[in-house]
Amino acid sequence: MASLHHLALPRRLNGKRAFEQRDVSLARQICVLVQLHNYNALRRTIDVAGVRRVMSELVARLVASVPDASVEWSGRDVIEVQFVSDRPDALADGLTTCRRSCIASMVIDDEGHDVDLVLGGAIGPVGRGSALLIEEAEAALAEAQSGISPLARWNAGQHDVDDAIADAVDLALDRGQMMLHYQPKVHVRRQAIECVEALVRWNHPDRGLVAPTEFIPAIERAQRMERLTLWTIAQAIEDQRRLRAAGHDLRVFINISGHLLADARFAQLVGERIAAAPDARLGFEVTETSVIRDPDRAIAHLQQFDRIGISISIDDYGAGLSSLAYLKQLPARELKIDKLFITQLTSSNRDPLIVRSTIDLAHALDMEVVAEGVESHAALALLSVMGCDMVQGYLISRPVALDVLLTFLTEDRFRDATQDMRASFTRLAATWKRA
Ligand code: C2E
Ligand code: MG
Ligand code: MG
Repeated sequence: MASLHHLALPRRLNGKRAFEQRDVSLARQICVLVQLHNYNALRRTIDVAGVRRVMSELVARLVASVPDASVEWSGRDVIEVQFVSDRPDALADGLTTCRRSCIASMVIDDEGHDVDLVLGGAIGPVGRGSALLIEEAEAALAEAQSGISPLARWNAGQHDVDDAIADAVDLALDRGQMMLHYQPKVHVRRQAIECVEALVRWNHPDRGLVAPTEFIPAIERAQRMERLTLWTIAQAIEDQRRLRAAGHDLRVFINISGHLLADARFAQLVGERIAAAPDARLGFEVTETSVIRDPDRAIAHLQQFDRIGISISIDDYGAGLSSLAYLKQLPARELKIDKLFITQLTSSNRDPLIVRSTIDLAHALDMEVVAEGVESHAALALLSVMGCDMVQGYLISRPVALDVLLTFLTEDRFRDATQDMRASFTRLAATWKRA
């Protein structure tokens, strides 16, 4: 982009330098172009000098509102904002912040003038070169100008970003920075913990524990979940042996991403891993949405897993695509109701009805039901009345490291949470039955 007006502002790239020094990083470069759409109309009313003051004021507002950004008045009516961020929603956030900071009207010579903006943005790996990023942001701006959306969001750089995150996680695996946390599932009637869910965490050298929601969606989009999942299976088997040695024989459930379900190579590798570890007692949590993508292959592989002793659980039920036809065909022993319906259970009118009918449906299909996201005694009591078989959630325990889980199991701490259940049980049952 040709630079007609160049505002001499210091490039504040301290944030960027700090990120560049890391070699394992989620950091990405974001470029947002802010265009003053009513530049010509304003020039007619307040002249060239007036409209330049408007542009300078926009630059000042952007500098004040986007921390550590480089802000440059790079064309007649365009301002370029570049910054580095490791947040997954950095581009959307950047676009929103830039727009919000600019939209207030401007007072020029005691008169208020509206600013009409168009924005385009792009995101890419740090160090890929900003020329490409600016080109992508310009394409987004053109898309926005054509009226598709006043706030264009351009994802051309997304592919590279996903690959960069998958590379960083590969490196993290090499360096032993990945770990599993475990969250128990409590059997309501038997008042016992018979299984746990393994949830991966990235023990990042600078950021501490990074949640899977920050990197798994990117690795899934890049279709590179195989290595991380095989590592998870191996780690879960090793941890299960430690639990067993301490007297706790628990089935360990592992989350399996959609694209792996239809992958014959993955199914074969799982078969080999299980054959090499005959003592392993695993379960796979899969979503219905991932089965629906390629149902024939997914169902064939799930049946194969079931035959080698892996228990199949349907995760996040109700949150994605559902099909009763597939539900019937899946060799699943367990159905997990999404936490979306559980966290609001006692404050919503409809959620209890949905949950109760889902429990009845699962029982009719010979499956056990797990409620995930159980955070209150009231929810636990209500689920118990409804016949829910197992509960999982912060009320019982957050996902914790293996050592913490061992202490938790040894001290029987989950009984603290379930003990109070009976107290609120009768009152809640009465309320619910009236509804
Ligand atoms: P998920 O399998 O549905 O796991 C449940 C998520 O809900 C976990 O988040 C857990 O910490 C959280 N949770 C548990 N109890 C409560 C509660 O009482 N209230 C609330 N609000 N949340 C609760 P986490 O660990 O951040 O995992 C998020 C998602 O990341 C998982 O959802 C799963 O889809 C994915 N994930 C985690 N580990 C792996 C993995 O090894 N492989 C794959 N493919 N996906 C994984
Ligand atoms: Mg799960
Ligand atoms: Mg879930």
